[in-house]
Amino acid sequence: MSKKIMLITGASRGIGAEIALLAASKDYFVVVNYTHNASAADQVVDTIKKNGGSAVAIQADCSKESEIVRLFQEVDQLGTIDTLIANAGIIGGQNPISETTEKQLKELFDINVIGLILCVREAVKRMSTELGGKGGKMVLMSSVAARTGGIAQEIHYASSKAAVDGFCLGLAKEVGNAGIRVNAVRPGLIGTSIHDVHGGMEVIQKWAAGVPMGRVGLPAEVAQTVVWLCSDESSYIHGAFIDVSGGR
Ligand code: NAP
Repeated sequence: MSKKIMLITGASRGIGAEIALLAASKDYFVVVNYTHNASAADQVVDTIKKNGGSAVAIQADCSKESEIVRLFQEVDQLGTIDTLIANAGIIGGQNPISETTEKQLKELFDINVIGLILCVREAVKRMSTELGGKGGKMVLMSSVAARTGGIAQEIHYASSKAAVDGFCLGLAKEVGNAGIRVNAVRPGLIGTSIHDVHGGMEVIQKWAAGVPMGRVGLPAEVAQTVVWLCSDESSYIHGAFIDVSGGR
């Protein structure tokens, strides 16, 4: 394959879907991963193809090691992975700490932290020049919640994203000399279906009053930063965190 292969976890909707559309327009071959919503993933792929790009949808639950391993094996059939966007994530419920359950935390950390780390492991095995690979790029999807503690009743989510930030710092040290460039993006309040649990756009538009720029961000605004971080224009940026949060 002549095009660079970019795998985006959780790309059927929201921020991941926008990254897929933009990356395809920059000539990446895009792998659109999803877990439940095949029709949404197919729609992203169809739009990319209609616009002259190349993409494929691959189902895999990125909270499960066996499915992550299979996902990367399916990507291997297409060619050598160049870029990983570890984007899939959930909020994991809303409740005060006094009502937090082990089951809830395990489900949340399985996708937001353990699944993300296992995706990175599979990518490093293929990209690391120390292991015979050709190098690559990674962007890990964090959140401003990692440094603010998150919104009320979602501190479990904030702690999972803080884990992503710590992992990113250490990973950058471990793989920086192996041809892999890794960074994290911290979105703020972005208009996607992740906020359906909060009452959707109508409710989060009201929260925008607390954002210095006074508005909700677009998934495309996060996508622009992510795709730039994968490009040669950001060639000396490594182990960095970029907030896309309207100043929040
Ligand atoms: P979203 O609209 O809810 O979309 C979530 C995506 O993740 C969907 O494609 C979903 O696939 C996929 N997904 C969920 N669980 C998965 C799993 N176990 N395995 C594989 N894919 C899975 O979310 P979003 O707002 O775009 O968020 C994307 C990332 O940005 C998340 O990590 C989130 O924490 C982070 N973030 C978002 C905001 C925000 O305000 N939106 C702010 C900060 C950080 P299906 O369609 O198949 O369910």
